Amino acid sequence: MTLAEMEPYYAKAEAKMGVTGTNNWPRLPGNNNFKVLKAGADKLGYKECHTGNMAINSVERDDRNSCQQTGFCFQGCKWGAKWSTLYTEIPKGEATGHLEVRPNSMAIKINHDASGKVTGVVYADKDGKLQEQKARIVAVAGNSIESPRLLLNSESSKFPHGLANSSGQVGKNYMRHTTGSVYAIFDKPVHMYRGTTMAGIIRDEARHDPSRGFVGGYEMETLSLGLPFMAAFLNPGGWGRSFTTALDHYDHMAGLWIVGEDMPREENRITLHKDEKDEHGMPIADVHFDDHPNDEAMRNHAYSQGQALYAAVGATRTFPTPPYPSTHNLGTNRMSEKPEDGVVNKHGQSHDIKNLFVSDGSQFTTGAAENPTLTIVTLAIRQADYIAAQMSAKTI
Ligand SMILES: Cc1cc2nc3c(=O)[nH]c(=O)nc-3n(C[C@H](O)[C@H](O)[C@H](O)COP(=O)(O)OP(=O)(O)OC[C@H]3O[C@@H](n4cnc5c(N)ncnc54)[C@H](O)[C@@H]3O)c2cc1C
Ligand code: SF4
Repeated sequence: MTLAEMEPYYAKAEAKMGVTGTNNWPRLPGNNNFKVLKAGADKLGYKECHTGNMAINSVERDDRNSCQQTGFCFQGCKWGAKWSTLYTEIPKGEATGHLEVRPNSMAIKINHDASGKVTGVVYADKDGKLQEQKARIVAVAGNSIESPRLLLNSESSKFPHGLANSSGQVGKNYMRHTTGSVYAIFDKPVHMYRGTTMAGIIRDEARHDPSRGFVGGYEMETLSLGLPFMAAFLNPGGWGRSFTTALDHYDHMAGLWIVGEDMPREENRITLHKDEKDEHGMPIADVHFDDHPNDEAMRNHAYSQGQALYAAVGATRTFPTPPYPSTHNLGTNRMSEKPEDGVVNKHGQSHDIKNLFVSDGSQFTTGAAENPTLTIVTLAIRQADYIAAQMSAKTI
């Protein structure tokens, strides 16, 4: 797949999501956390540092507010400024009369007929009662842990290793970005928690430049954690005066998050747990992930750049902070040109079963050094066009 093929769909996704810095929408103003980042970036000679391209309204649009800089982005934006399918796309879909959402339902198994075509989904409804929804096509979008779990759990005598899994690739190549953070304490207050949680980005390190001791690249993005989260993650297991004085200076902290390209590896994978099951009797996902030495080299480089950045603008202490539990789950139903190399083709259509699609980030073959949601939405819009064309042509 080429960038030229993707570009028109990226443009549609940016317009739909209201991405700042596109479509003549201004970027958001920088909060104090950003101002510290930018000052440090300038000292280190970084050239591409700005307040980013965010799916947050910088002006009123789409019948929604503009960002009020209140700082609760992770908790859910009460102002409706941040794009969220919950209050943007789903109500619009329902208004067409062609979308019905059945909340609190859990898909358990995808059924197929003797020819292998999928025919419907067995799900537990909100009361835990099993139902079957017949379907002409099925699109799986449970994210990169639950989507392979559902495909694997849909094994049958015809597909003994799960659906869409003739390549054996379902669940493999789980990626979650090479991450970590750097927090720094300053003499004067920063109040990093005011304004958007993520308020700016440095892109200079995203390039592929093996002279740094690793392949691929990473970005640095401002990040503010709430105080309880900070206490848990600043130095897990930390205690004593050094730790408590750091928390005492919470309002004097600035912080950044590292997001880099991690290696797709078959050993990092989702399988069905051998013994443990959920309340519906479905095996839970068993998640295995190890860092590659490249991930460690990249993270160490980013730690040292982040610490140098804050030291350059007067930080009195800096804290390289280990990765939090994963937020960017990717891979596990990878795209491939040849059926033997992956699960889906470039439209997210499974190689094995024409009317079965994967519509989330599990299609990714690599994670790149970039937050993934814009690309997930772009692929979904592109896939929707493809499905509509195939259905009209009666090929599925
Ligand atoms: C704290 C945090 C911060 C993030 N920040 C950013 C960011 O700044 N930028 C960015 O680009 N990305 C960010 N991400 C990643 C972003 O949230 C994901 O890329 C995005 O949500 C993926 O969308 P999705 O619809 O594919 O999956 P999800 O949003 O995970 O939705 C999957 C849905 O499927 C449902 N589901 C799963 N299995 C089943 C089943 N068997 N039956 C029925 N339903 C099922 C789940 O309940 C869920 O509602 C962040 C993630 C986290 C956790
Ligand atoms: S800062 Fe975050 S929570 Fe507050 S209005 Fe802006 S997007 Fe919403």
